Amino acid sequence: MAKRTYGKEYGFMTRAVHTGNDVDGETGAIKRPITMANSYELPYDPTDMNWSGAGQTLYTRNDGANQNYLQEKLASLEGGEDCIALASGVGALSGLFFALLQSGDHVIFSSVTYIAVYRLFNELFNHKFGVETTIVDTTDPENVRAAIRPNTKLIHIETPGNPTLGITDIRALAEIAHAHGILLSVDNTFASPYNQRPLELGADFCVESLTKYINGHGDAMGGAIIGKKEHLDLIRAQSQINLGATISPFNAWLIMRGAVTLPLRMKQHNENALAVAKWLEAQPCVSFVAYPGLESSQGHEIAKKQMAPGFGGMLSFGLKADHDTHNRFVSHLKVITSAVSLGHDESLIVFLGENDERQYLYPEKFHNGFFRFSVGIEDTQDLIDDLKQALEKTGLL
Ligand SMILES: *Cc1c(COP(=O)(O)O)cnc(C)c1O
Repeated sequence: MAKRTYGKEYGFMTRAVHTGNDVDGETGAIKRPITMANSYELPYDPTDMNWSGAGQTLYTRNDGANQNYLQEKLASLEGGEDCIALASGVGALSGLFFALLQSGDHVIFSSVTYIAVYRLFNELFNHKFGVETTIVDTTDPENVRAAIRPNTKLIHIETPGNPTLGITDIRALAEIAHAHGILLSVDNTFASPYNQRPLELGADFCVESLTKYINGHGDAMGGAIIGKKEHLDLIRAQSQINLGATISPFNAWLIMRGAVTLPLRMKQHNENALAVAKWLEAQPCVSFVAYPGLESSQGHEIAKKQMAPGFGGMLSFGLKADHDTHNRFVSHLKVITSAVSLGHDESLIVFLGENDERQYLYPEKFHNGFFRFSVGIEDTQDLIDDLKQALEKTGLL
């Protein structure tokens, strides 16, 4: 039977359900199976095969059925031509940087990014490979413009940024980058394509950790790069094949399954996080709340322009309390779990203590320890009640 395709005439929810799935040609099953085989049968005469080629079913590191299905879905949801699915978000970030950059190039990156990006640019690519790197507070586009050099090749931003929720104007940075022949990549992990689509705002690459909202169930790791086919062909040939961060077919299948409910989950994340942010902001023991949906938060006006229909499930907040009181508060939580990662179905909280080496890059209110809170999809009132009883038991309320 003919392969079903779902173009732009279909809405986001329809594409989240259908794109990348089809009737299985062999069994007639209406869900495509998991293909765990490492190898695919060679043609009659294999002498002309490119053993390092991508885009041919040969060996799972070159290409594979389940990663292809997932790539089709993600390209559609992010509004891009092509997608590469890899083993983790960091696999996707390092694969992108490895293929694009060489010694003598210059990179500008956000002062608030995922920690591995900071390590790659501040310790590894610069010292090992002679790539010049500059940390910039990208929440003000003028800082970026001022940092551009003749050899600037790439601007990499994260918005909302992990963990301060800083908002950078994607459209403004795309204009600055393209006026200088520079590529722009955006880490879209926090917002997810339901709330923000960087490619539609002018970015060249959207990178994300599938481990978070896209899978959404906290049980599989993956990462993706979405962008133009000509760029992604290069990343496939250089990074996918030779760095080898191959996504397991089983994980690709799990993430496909999780992504079906992305829109439904994001609706509840958006609603819960806004309600929790407003409730926290009203408590006298809370020193600050950073959530792009709050009028008081940095970048709220830009967030309203580039994030819709909501502002995501991530927020950070501070307590007017000493170090150990933060830990005591967490120990009293019953619904919310103390764990790293984010974007899971369940609510996760992490106390980021005062000894973060990157603290000098964060706004001052983050300097006394704060919580990064991944607001889950539980009942809104249960989350607020949980925070309330834990603050009471800690003596803060
Ligand atoms: C978690 C995360 C990553 C890294 O993803 P992994 O799947 O853990 O490798 C990258 N960027 C952001 C913003 C993240 O939160």
